[in-house]
Amino acid sequence: MTKLLHYLLVFAILGISFSGCMHSRANKEVFFQTSTIDALLDGEYDGNITYGDLKKHGNTGIGTFDGLDGEMIGVNNKFFQIKADGMAYPVDDSMTAPFAMVTFFEPDRTLFIDKLLNYNGLERYLDDLLPTKNIFYAVKIDGNFTYVRTRSVPKQNKPYLPLAEVVKNQPIFEFLGVQGTIIGFRLPDYIKGINMPGYHLHFITEDKKGGGHLLECQMREGKAEIDDTAEFYMILPKEGEFYKRDLTKDRQKEVEGVEK
Ligand code: ZN
Repeated sequence: MTKLLHYLLVFAILGISFSGCMHSRANKEVFFQTSTIDALLDGEYDGNITYGDLKKHGNTGIGTFDGLDGEMIGVNNKFFQIKADGMAYPVDDSMTAPFAMVTFFEPDRTLFIDKLLNYNGLERYLDDLLPTKNIFYAVKIDGNFTYVRTRSVPKQNKPYLPLAEVVKNQPIFEFLGVQGTIIGFRLPDYIKGINMPGYHLHFITEDKKGGGHLLECQMREGKAEIDDTAEFYMILPKEGEFYKRDLTKDRQKEVEGVEK
């Protein structure tokens, strides 16, 4: 092989890989989150990423807003804010999140459920499907519910109270005989401190008018899809209160009190 031909081949190969990089979108098998659950529990409610930027990391997810202004649910690349009035509002790209988690949803397993399941029953049903509890899973359930109970959180003003204080006044919403979608994640036990182990699910009605952080449900039937996710990418606030917070405490009890 002549030297020239060799160089041409090398450039051709590099050219292909460069164009491959440029054309490929974000890796879809990544669980992305901003900040940590312990920072949120401590009252870190300042938005640190815009929803415009968050959407570059996923089209599906859950989280909250600057000032803890409600619950977020992202489904099919549409993001909603469920405020303390229980109503769902479209999210503008300029809004920000203090804590959120997203992924590009591509189901690896699908199952049809046709028996009455409450939240615990649903968790057990899904757990039986999973090949391991040691990776991350995104969950999407389109279902028909006889009953759904959710909560949201009221917008906070500074100085921010810890989350355990805020949820003492959380508004609760009940839905009877409703179609809707559950979006959330099942995270491994070792995620303690960074995020919440087990299931964390949010709900939105089919008409996209109401929802919230899921507390309880009775599902009659539905389609559950699970996206196995074995990569994890976390970003942290680069300025502000986050630097001063004490994130050394074990807050696992607090997490359970606040999110269950
Ligand atoms: Zn939640």
